[in-house]
Amino acid sequence: MPRILFSDHDFPDIGLELELFRRHGIDVEVAQCRSEGDVIRAAQGCCGILLQYAPITEQVVNALPGVGIVSRIGAGFDTIDTAACQRQGVWVANSPDYGVGEVATHALGLALAVTRNIVAYHRDITAAGKWHYLSSGRLRRPRELTLGIVGLGRIGKRTAQVSRDVYKRVVAYDPYLIDGDFPVFVERASSLEALAREADVVSLHTPLTAETRGMIGERFFAALKPGSYLVNTARGAVVDVDACLRALDAGILAGAGLDVLPSEPVAAGSALASHPRVVLTPHAAFYSQEAERELRQKAARNLATWIATGRPDYVVVQGTRKPAA
Ligand code: NAD
Repeated sequence: MPRILFSDHDFPDIGLELELFRRHGIDVEVAQCRSEGDVIRAAQGCCGILLQYAPITEQVVNALPGVGIVSRIGAGFDTIDTAACQRQGVWVANSPDYGVGEVATHALGLALAVTRNIVAYHRDITAAGKWHYLSSGRLRRPRELTLGIVGLGRIGKRTAQVSRDVYKRVVAYDPYLIDGDFPVFVERASSLEALAREADVVSLHTPLTAETRGMIGERFFAALKPGSYLVNTARGAVVDVDACLRALDAGILAGAGLDVLPSEPVAAGSALASHPRVVLTPHAAFYSQEAERELRQKAARNLATWIATGRPDYVVVQGTRKPAA
């Protein structure tokens, strides 16, 4: 019977995965791996790994010649060394399309929370007993604002769609798309700095790559108009958090709505957590009951499909390793 490692998860129970693997005649080793060593030890005798956040580094890939596939429960795959997998012929799969609407509406929700002072008003009322429309400062008319989207892929495009009736204009920066991939109502920004100069509200939707790590830093904030807003539902490390805090304190940013941080959960005593103009959510943009079920089913099914056919449903890296006959 083929055996796979379920390397780590933060779900209250994993009945869904265990039932899916049982139906496909797959044996499961369940662990909570945090380190490379944990993964290497737990994956002995396994042909595949289902992971949430466990590190699949070059060392892990090299140490596990029997593993032919790793499947990430999620769209992003930045905890996986995809180049090492490619070199060793290990398939990498993910679950890319389960929560596009959830993340897009969450991004809009965070944008509205900061541009309409929703959380600040609530805090003023409940913590300070203030009941006044000016308690948290002056607001601008949404229909006068421009939304700037960085990364116009699945989620970026949906964010543009759900936001288009809220804002005056939607502009986007995505150097990897041809003009024809831009919806007609989205204007193209020629560079990240050009987007920064146009946008009042910037929403990030790129993957975390060597190129995007720290991309929203000093240079970007220097190009922003004072009083702008930043929303990040992509990956925390796309934003240089120290530069973001300086931009908040300098008034370049009037507010920031962050669902993701470079290191999660937020550190105790973090300046972000106590900042009056920052709204945090706990990497929850993907979440609805329906999306979670779809996400977990698709990620687990990648392993079952690969074991049955030699190819997973959602391919990130095309491997060469084959399931045992
Ligand atoms: P996608 O691959 O469909 O789209 C990403 C887009 O970013 C692509 O169009 C690509 O061309 C563009 N891009 C890449 N590098 C860029 C750069 N340097 N500058 C500008 N654009 C660039 O991905 P997606 O499914 O839309 O996911 C977007 C992000 O959302 C990912 O980081 C993913 O990990 C994250 N995500 C977060 C949550 C959450 O719960 N917060 C849930 C799902 C996805």
